[in-house]
Amino acid sequence: MTDQRAPIVAEVDAVVVGAGFGGLYMVHRLRELGMSIQGFDAAGGVGGTWYWNRYPGARCDIQSLFYSYTWSEEVQKAWRWSEKYAAQPEILAYANYVADKYDLKRPFAFETKVKSAAWDAAKRRWRVTTDRGDDVSARFCIMATGCLSVPRAPEIPGQDSFEGASFHTGTWPHEPVSFKGKTVAVIGTGSSAIQSITEIAKEAERLYVFQRTPNFSVPARNGPLTDKHYAAFWEQYPAYRQMVLDGTAGIAGGSPMRSLTAEQQRARFEELWNIGGAGYLGALADLLTNPVANDAAANFVREKIRETVKDPEVAEALLPDDHPIGAKRICVDTGYYEVFNQENVTLVNLRKAPIEAITPAGVRTTAQEYPVDAIVYATGFDAMTGALLNIDIRGEGGFPLAEAWRDGPKTYLGLQVAGFPNLFTITGPGSPSVLSNMISSCEQHVDWISDCLAWVDANGVEVIAADPQAQEDWVAKVNEAADKTLFPKANSWYIGANIPGKPRVFMPYVGGHYRQICNSVAAEGYRGFRLE
Ligand code: FAD
Repeated sequence: MTDQRAPIVAEVDAVVVGAGFGGLYMVHRLRELGMSIQGFDAAGGVGGTWYWNRYPGARCDIQSLFYSYTWSEEVQKAWRWSEKYAAQPEILAYANYVADKYDLKRPFAFETKVKSAAWDAAKRRWRVTTDRGDDVSARFCIMATGCLSVPRAPEIPGQDSFEGASFHTGTWPHEPVSFKGKTVAVIGTGSSAIQSITEIAKEAERLYVFQRTPNFSVPARNGPLTDKHYAAFWEQYPAYRQMVLDGTAGIAGGSPMRSLTAEQQRARFEELWNIGGAGYLGALADLLTNPVANDAAANFVREKIRETVKDPEVAEALLPDDHPIGAKRICVDTGYYEVFNQENVTLVNLRKAPIEAITPAGVRTTAQEYPVDAIVYATGFDAMTGALLNIDIRGEGGFPLAEAWRDGPKTYLGLQVAGFPNLFTITGPGSPSVLSNMISSCEQHVDWISDCLAWVDANGVEVIAADPQAQEDWVAKVNEAADKTLFPKANSWYIGANIPGKPRVFMPYVGGHYRQICNSVAAEGYRGFRLE
């Protein structure tokens, strides 16, 4: 801890946990409502994801112009992104710029982890405590704790015995790390791995990529943003805003497969491949619902992998074969498949010989030991529920959230959990969250919560609590929507499959019209909520 401070003992209107894009905007809106706020973040500053994930190559895979707040036109006009897909330092600088401009850091105590939050029914307030002895009472508790903020610790025997340097992409050091002249192991081949591998391969003497499950990756085709790009962006902006407001929650696309000839489909895949980015999943309207359309899009990527990777055995090992394309988070890269043509890069196929242990010298598979100087664990996150369940949250009757979610997360609209009055979750499970542009989703939730709190005050309501039946109905709708898609067919972190023992429940809402649903709930006097 860098600074010593006295514990905070206070009564406020709202506690906000998390100073990422969700928490920062929440503070801004609560201030506008005239509320007193206490914020907490375990990080040493603002930015959330972009504070923690400083690994080489860390980058947004939504175009920077769209991965921006829309609530401040002043910021939109003043901030200039340098690249089509911004890198982590630039996104972190942006978060700091906005926070400084609107004085959003002041309410936060940093380097402070929230340990517990308990509802006191008699006082109708939340009591929030931290690892620094803070004890804060608040009418409202807003969890802006992030969907991808709890790195998944790898569980490989012998990890502590390793004598070289170890890193997790999600908690990268602030000081520069040099891999020059080093032999490096990267364990994992998800988004963070794919981004870091292409950078580490430029520097390391030798790089071993340990792959258990090959993932689909599409080229970003990143590049500098010019005045021309900006002019085109502002021209499209009204249409873009409308598209966000009409939100289709990640399932979008052009024509359905059956209305296109095979040549037209191919041309469409080729066109989107050349444009670059995750927009590839929009090639066909039914790409995420129709297995035949999905296979066609997946086969096109497999062809590209075979064309790119010179060694046929390595190419074959890189072909994703156990999930529909898009059903796991699609990766967006800059030269990923090409990296395997470099003499200093070796793919270690863990399907043939799994990792047995980390040894003092390196990584040992069932086939051989790989001595290395450094290990990079790109092993992902305890997604969507991890940060919430890390806090001892107790609702009505002292009932723990961990019990309420024993069989998987249940929420009403991803915004509240029945039994936990006056507590809101930003981009909680049961909302589009990780399948959307998350800045937009954070903004939508913050706007909805702020409007709700203003309404609650204006109507003399002290307690707003999701009705259990409304929650059950919403959970059924979330499941029904997922079952119409190919998402549940993958063992992804969307269903908690990367965490041993985590209940397998598809967590994001993919049904579409989400904003309209939330708006109609509000317009009907907060339908599905108990108001006292
Ligand atoms: P976060 O940014 O995760 O912030 C949550 C904060 O809460 C963290 O700072 C954390 O320290 C704090 N916190 C959590 N628990 C506690 C506690 N108990 N006590 C105190 N503090 C706590 N999204 C996209 O839309 N497009 C992308 O291209 C994209 N790329 C990504 C790449 C990576 C490597 C990662 C990890 C995520 C990416 N995301 C992307 C998702 C990203 O998380 C969101 O875009 C966005 O930054 C989320 O903001 P947030 O405020 O909801 O949460």
